[in-house]
Amino acid sequence: MNRLEAVLGRLIAEEGPLPIDRYMGLCLGHPQFGYYMTRDPLGEKGDFLTAPEVSQVFGELIGVWCAAVWASMGRPRHINLVELGPGRGTLMADVRRAIGQTAPALAQALSIHLVETSPVLRAAQRERLDGVVEWHASLADVPDGPMLCLANEFFDAIPVRQIERRGGRWHERVVGLTDSGLTLGLGLEVEQPGGEEGDVAELSPAREEIARSLGRRLAGHGGAALIIDYGHLGAGPGDTLQAMRGHRFVPVTHAPGESDLTAHVDFAALGRALAAGGAVVRPALTQRQFLLAMGLETRFSRLAAGADAAAAAQLARQQARLAEEAQMGNLFKVLAATMPTLPTPYPFGP
Ligand code: SAH
Repeated sequence: MNRLEAVLGRLIAEEGPLPIDRYMGLCLGHPQFGYYMTRDPLGEKGDFLTAPEVSQVFGELIGVWCAAVWASMGRPRHINLVELGPGRGTLMADVRRAIGQTAPALAQALSIHLVETSPVLRAAQRERLDGVVEWHASLADVPDGPMLCLANEFFDAIPVRQIERRGGRWHERVVGLTDSGLTLGLGLEVEQPGGEEGDVAELSPAREEIARSLGRRLAGHGGAALIIDYGHLGAGPGDTLQAMRGHRFVPVTHAPGESDLTAHVDFAALGRALAAGGAVVRPALTQRQFLLAMGLETRFSRLAAGADAAAAAQLARQQARLAEEAQMGNLFKVLAATMPTLPTPYPFGP
């Protein structure tokens, strides 16, 4: 039994079984033993690999997107470049470099704000991002003003609730404790319309709260947000909670705090919450559609032009990983939300 399991065991003994969102929040964010509090989970040697860690091209194309949006806002002379859950700071470093090269006036206008709870990852970000960068524990702490906001694989780490339909009623899914350790079970009845016997649905008040406040900021202070994550555009995929360790799936109740616990993002729910906050939400694209429209192929062939055969083969693998349908291309979605007066940013509209 690890130390977080002992903490959770005591909590369950005192309060009863934990709803999935509470369990997920503690596994990832417990101040001492939470997954993100104790390690840098990214990279080949870690538990998972994200798009910015696959290739610099990902961040470069997003930097170009930021520059175009800023231009369409009328080039405000001060703008916050905000990232939610910046990991190792790789995406922001690539975005900043691309902005420096393609839009020096934006480079002058922006101040960088990172929303990050992990002390380990804050240290990694500090190393990667020299110069003036500010850290915040939540979006609410970022100073007011127009912004460009980026979030890659952030929302999947924000807890979800799960409910399950049994005996003609919905019940909260919970984590309890039995002789064999932490076990999934059913808790209190929940009021919720519809559903068939055995259905599982995921709800995320925590994600929606963040999305609503993001929407309020975009509406109130101007700007745009780009949200990228694995997930679905419609309802009904059921149970998507997953634990990943060393690039493999493990049971979600196994060694809590030692694996990355995530759930797919419901982009429809996220879009509704952004809109409820006052932002305009454009229909989401797949990562493949977004990256190809932003010039993925041209950028990769330019990098490959000066490369030897081995390096060119590696670039081809990276490009495929980001955009092929069977790899990240279709599972990952890209959603843009903007202030209401902004024209639809390329490539989200006609
Ligand atoms: N965007 C990065 C990292 C993704 S991992 C990339 O694409 O490589 C998830 C990131 O979100 C980590 O930086 C993690 O520490 C951060 N995070 C998780 N929960 C958070 C929370 N509640 N508030 C702020 N950051 C959080």
